[in-house]
Amino acid sequence: MADPSPLATARAQLATAIEILGYDDGMHAMLATPRREMHVAVPLRRDDGHVEIRHGYRVQHNISRGPGKGGLRYAANVDLDEVRALAMWMTWKCAVVELPYGGAKGGVALDPSRYSPGELERITRRYTSEIMPMIGPERDIMAPDVGTNEQTMAWVMDTYSVNRGYTIPAVTTGKPLSVGGSLGRATATSRGVVHMAAATLADAGVDLREVSAAVQGFGKVGSHLARFLAEAGTRVVAVSDEHGGVMAPDGLDVPAVLAHVQHTGTVVGFPGGEPIDNTALLGLDVDLLVPAAVEGVLDEETAANVKARWVVEAANGPTTTAGDRVLAERGVVVVPDILANAGGVVVSYFEWVQANEAYWWTEPEIEERLAQRMHRSYATVAQYARAEGVSLRDAALVIGVRRVAEAHRTRGLYP
Ligand code: NAD
Repeated sequence: MADPSPLATARAQLATAIEILGYDDGMHAMLATPRREMHVAVPLRRDDGHVEIRHGYRVQHNISRGPGKGGLRYAANVDLDEVRALAMWMTWKCAVVELPYGGAKGGVALDPSRYSPGELERITRRYTSEIMPMIGPERDIMAPDVGTNEQTMAWVMDTYSVNRGYTIPAVTTGKPLSVGGSLGRATATSRGVVHMAAATLADAGVDLREVSAAVQGFGKVGSHLARFLAEAGTRVVAVSDEHGGVMAPDGLDVPAVLAHVQHTGTVVGFPGGEPIDNTALLGLDVDLLVPAAVEGVLDEETAANVKARWVVEAANGPTTTAGDRVLAERGVVVVPDILANAGGVVVSYFEWVQANEAYWWTEPEIEERLAQRMHRSYATVAQYARAEGVSLRDAALVIGVRRVAEAHRTRGLYP
């Protein structure tokens, strides 16, 4: 059986793009290998006084088109290979939506639900100070990902700034508005996913109002996107989180689910629906399936049960290589992560531009520029896919990989 790890998936995707593009082994190796990696031991004094060590990582996969850009993840199973995969996907994503960035990612292996706010602040500050030589507004810019949020980004920004002696808001994005965040950033990934769902449905002459959807993951991305889909008239029949899911064939009252989650911390037990587990959710008889949680959930087995006509990947790497093949054989249209969830990094870029200029835009300006860039990127990818007879994933990868390779060739090889 093929290795379903995120890094194996990311490497296999790159190999496919290299083959289509006909690049040689040297270029393949350049694009497959992370430029810089840091593994740091992060000591943390727990609230009860004892000290433990957590392991942290920062990987800059490629910086040929600009500074590294990518999220910071806190999860128990974070390891170097996962961070490498996520950093590689960031490289192609930034290139697909034409941002002047390379790809990076960071992570600390810890389950944030087991730590107090004070402990999370201390570990964030110590991790930031350990990776300080790698990051900076012109080197590598962080954003929230699984298990981190805008408060985390404020601590990173503050730690970096205090050590430099002045305030440097552009070192992170996804910050609170009070310290240089951008309007529209908190919902940007979800908005972008909904733009991409609307665009791919429109190619088939279908409107969001006519379809049903299931969303896996109800965190920063999944919760907003379930709400936006419902607002667009989509019947959202199921949502889930790591504890389980809820479904209602006639459609969930999404604002009521959000209120339930605010109260209890999980979608489980929502009184307006029936329980459903995460695997069953993937196989529901819906039109649109949106994985918005973690990697590798659509593998050979689960993909074989997918009944949706469209899968829009809000999560990074939710589909393994084998899962992808099965979905293609079944005629399912997959809008790949590096395009579908790029709205977050697009508005992160807007936040970085605003911070560098110290001039902030209005929300309508941000929403309009986000929509334009997402639809333009979709059109480029969809046109390539049609012209070359390849999947949207292969089209997006080829476009992203080719732009990065062009930067390498144009810059030349030093010395
Ligand atoms: P989050 O931590 O806010 O939420 C994650 C959600 O997934 C939670 O509801 C959690 O309970 C659920 N979950 C975790 N493990 C699960 C499992 N095994 N099965 C089902 N649900 C599970 O994270 P997020 O920021 O919403 O990120 C979600 C996905 O979107 C990740 O793949 C992330 O890399 C990707 N992404 C996030 C952003 C962003 O701006 N936050 C941007 C691009 C891509």
